[in-house]
Amino acid sequence: MSVSTLAKSILESPTLKLNEEARVLREKGESVVHLGAGEPKNKAPMNAILSSAAKLCSADIKYTPTDGIPSLKKAIIKYTEENYNRIVASENVIVSAGAKQSVYNVLYSIINPQDEVIILAPYWVSYPEMVRMVYGIPVIVTPEDGSFYPKMSDVLKGVSTYTKAIIVNSPNNPSGMMYPETFIAEIVEFCEKKGIYLIMDDIYHKLVFDGIVAPSAYKYTTKDIESTHIISINGVSKLYGMTGFRIGWAIANKELVSIMSNVQSQITSCTAILLQAAAEGALTGLQSAVESLRMTLENNRNVMLEELKTFTGVKVTKPNGTYYCLPDFRAYSNNSVELSRMLLKKALVVTVPGKEFGMEGHLRLSYAGSIKEITEGIARIKWALDPSSPNEIYIGDRKLVRDWL
Ligand code: PMP
Repeated sequence: MSVSTLAKSILESPTLKLNEEARVLREKGESVVHLGAGEPKNKAPMNAILSSAAKLCSADIKYTPTDGIPSLKKAIIKYTEENYNRIVASENVIVSAGAKQSVYNVLYSIINPQDEVIILAPYWVSYPEMVRMVYGIPVIVTPEDGSFYPKMSDVLKGVSTYTKAIIVNSPNNPSGMMYPETFIAEIVEFCEKKGIYLIMDDIYHKLVFDGIVAPSAYKYTTKDIESTHIISINGVSKLYGMTGFRIGWAIANKELVSIMSNVQSQITSCTAILLQAAAEGALTGLQSAVESLRMTLENNRNVMLEELKTFTGVKVTKPNGTYYCLPDFRAYSNNSVELSRMLLKKALVVTVPGKEFGMEGHLRLSYAGSIKEITEGIARIKWALDPSSPNEIYIGDRKLVRDWL
């Protein structure tokens, strides 16, 4: 079969693949613990549902403007003012089918073939593939000191005359780390000076722990929204746990937003009005849902860290936010893909190999699920890997005996 060479080279999203594998195993009746998921258990906020249901009941379900309905954009403008202290116009906002499409749309609209995009490791799995999908070149920058914090000196090593953009995701998927404020200040200054786009993927920026606040990149620029190179990405998926609603947005200068709108108009026309209504409901309703999700995640993170402490070999860096942590399992294996496969096969626990995020030897563990899933998941991993743990375990009502250590 003759297909596009580029399309053929694009890898399947490993996280979505694992979700599917877990679903199939569960359907077969297997007692799978899913520590791979990037979504919490909570229900969507009631205001989101009521807003969407009211629209549905009107039976007036049509196309919307490509860049989003005015009332949702108004709510996004208010969100931007409250969280970033920036007043933006409606023409600075474009709503897409999830932050994923927002990132892709930005890249499609700024990248020429062979332009380079700097991606900081560990990174969200989709960035390199998306850059390649628009004929750009992903340049991975790995922190030299082995930490999850890149330094400006690391970034500079990746910069060339072809650098068109840098993507920053802080708090970060997969490490859960928030980059230091000084780093954000430095990278903003650098990008503004060099005319390099700084794509801030901020979708976890309110899900932070221990009383910290994620710094806003806009704080460190003197430029207005039309001349800044900062592009910010947000969405309802992580903020409200509304992953299935597929609403994200980008904030950028008017010219870029208008180009992105043209691109989107030829691809999806617009996002579904029912889902835009839901996102509007979430943004304009009571924000206690965000705080309660944040608190649940912080508590879950604490439980996950406590459980991981009982592993002698595993090193974990305390996450500052998000749904994830990225422990170092090199004491058990240097091959995270094999390790993750083995854990799924032997212990029915889903984990995501660190290799997918540019951090071999690590596993991304999600604490977005229930406390029971966290404790049970870690107990099973321990049973599978740690010779000092008892060699029998019950998974459901099946007794499993470890015979490989
Ligand atoms: N950016 C990052 C860093 C993510 O982790 C994700 C989802 N896992 C997205 C973007 C995409 O989110 P959405 O569901 O809004 O498309």
